[in-house]
Amino acid sequence: MIVFDQVQKSYQVGDRAIPALHPTDMRIDAGEVFGIVGHSGAGKSTLVRLINLLERPTGGRILVDGEDITRYNPQELRAFRRKVGMIFQHFNLLSSKTVADNIAFPMKLAGVYGKTEIRDRVEELLARVGLTDHAHKFPSQLSGGQKQRVGIARALACRPSILLCDEATSALDPQTTQSVLKLLADINRELGLTVVLITHEMDVVRRVCDRVAVMDAGRVVELGPVSEVFLHP
Ligand code: ADP
Ligand code: ADP
Repeated sequence: MIVFDQVQKSYQVGDRAIPALHPTDMRIDAGEVFGIVGHSGAGKSTLVRLINLLERPTGGRILVDGEDITRYNPQELRAFRRKVGMIFQHFNLLSSKTVADNIAFPMKLAGVYGKTEIRDRVEELLARVGLTDHAHKFPSQLSGGQKQRVGIARALACRPSILLCDEATSALDPQTTQSVLKLLADINRELGLTVVLITHEMDVVRRVCDRVAVMDAGRVVELGPVSEVFLHP
């Protein structure tokens, strides 16, 4: 479970502090698919990047499974970050590495996995995302949907318990979006991962999210089950 306790974030721009997230209390349950919607600039990315401390809060506490992650020392933070995978709108793959090497990369970086373990894990992940036959290709040889599947496999490499998705289907056509969403839903169900996803596509929210937060100007202005939040326009 992820708990925001009066979490706030301001960006320092010159001598001004620009608020991106006003003090926010909320809870994301373990194992749910939690959607975040809102206009551009509403604070969605900021909120998500606080969960893996890509951004540091300027106030409040973030508790993950009861531990205040803002108080972690660098070593604890490294271990925690392995438990949080992230996928991106533009995939952020390494273009000079093959599909297999992209997937292996976070495990190598972590420095706690053996060679055989990495090889077996990459094979298992390739199968899970349906890319076994593409292991030795480079990202430039893949379609958008295939690239995002590599992104998902890479995000899962270190067996995270949380998967953060920042506009993960926004660069994909509708049909590819459906298949990537199905994969995310399968992962959520089969692996019990908590999935937090930012989207501007209402269809995505309706299809896969359990609960949704609506953000506006740095505030969560509505939060609840999808059916309740989108009952009234
Ligand atoms: P969203 O993801 O909903 O588009 P963001 O979280 O990216 O919103 O941005 C929220 C606000 O914070 C915006 O006003 C944006 O301009 C500002 N912001 C985001 N990142 C930075 C940054 N690194 N420095 C200064 N301002 C930022
Ligand atoms: P625009 O395309 O002009 O930025 P949209 O109407 O497409 O504006 O909405 C932008 C964002 O606001 C989307 O993420 C959408 O999900 C969200 N949104 C729009 N209407 C609502 C609503 N009634 N309740 C909650 N979120 C909404």
